[in-house]
Amino acid sequence: MKQTPQELLVTQRMQPGVITLSGFLGIDQRPLNEIIADDAQTLLRLDITAPEIAERMQYLTDQSQQAYEGGIIIDGSYEVETEITRGKLPCPFLHRGLQRKTVTTCTHLTTGITIRWTALNIHMIKEHGFFEGKGSPFRLEPGTLIKVLFPDAAHRS
Ligand SMILES: [Zn+2]
Repeated sequence: MKQTPQELLVTQRMQPGVITLSGFLGIDQRPLNEIIADDAQTLLRLDITAPEIAERMQYLTDQSQQAYEGGIIIDGSYEVETEITRGKLPCPFLHRGLQRKTVTTCTHLTTGITIRWTALNIHMIKEHGFFEGKGSPFRLEPGTLIKVLFPDAAHRS
């Protein structure tokens, strides 16, 4: 797929050291629009939308922030902890507005699978269907996310 000038600019902003130290693309050589399109295929197959995933991540993040300190058990299914550090990050997709710097660690108690995400991950999934490139430290595999966040839906795959 040919890339638009805007996509090229966004790709440039995703390089290591521009917005974050490690960047957003990892070792992925695919154009941005292909990364997004491939993950969209996975979501289609599993019958879950990106906003649905983001909403679930936001819910767990919000709930965990109610904890006085450390992790809390949410809905009897997840142990979740959110760490907040100073500072804010812009969205690489040329959005106005800044995201807080948070890292949420979520363990699904039944399977023992642990995933972690940032506030920017939630924003990029919700608004851009972007789960980051392969090999990126905060790459989130849609299949794994769905398995953890929607355990009843995962068997559809
Ligand atoms: Zn954005």
